[in-house]
Amino acid sequence: MMKYERATLKQQKPFKDKFGTSFRAGHAIYKIVWCKELFNDERACYGVCNPEMKEIYIDITQSDIQETLIHEMFHAEVYESGMKQMSSFYHDLEELCCEAASRVCKNFELKRKNAKSKRR
Ligand SMILES: [Zn+2]
Repeated sequence: MMKYERATLKQQKPFKDKFGTSFRAGHAIYKIVWCKELFNDERACYGVCNPEMKEIYIDITQSDIQETLIHEMFHAEVYESGMKQMSSFYHDLEELCCEAASRVCKNFELKRKNAKSKRR
């Protein structure tokens, strides 16, 4: 079971400004819920995707928000594309794919940033 405490509006603001409050996955619009505490099955976690509610939950107290955000966005994308029902080992596979994808995106972003700062 998931449990979370929403961040205050003031705490949410920098993240809303940078990453927004929602995104599109397939034909659905997902809401980003910025949290200051997040638990899934009693365990603290960085991010959770809830396809039933069309929401993702991101803990703002972690150091790598962007990577977690991308990770959960990929889960939403996988769900909305209908790939979810493909096989029994799919969950682990999905986890691997989302993890890899968020790292690749982050590295890409870092490279872009470095390239920009070198040009200056
Ligand atoms: Zn995951």
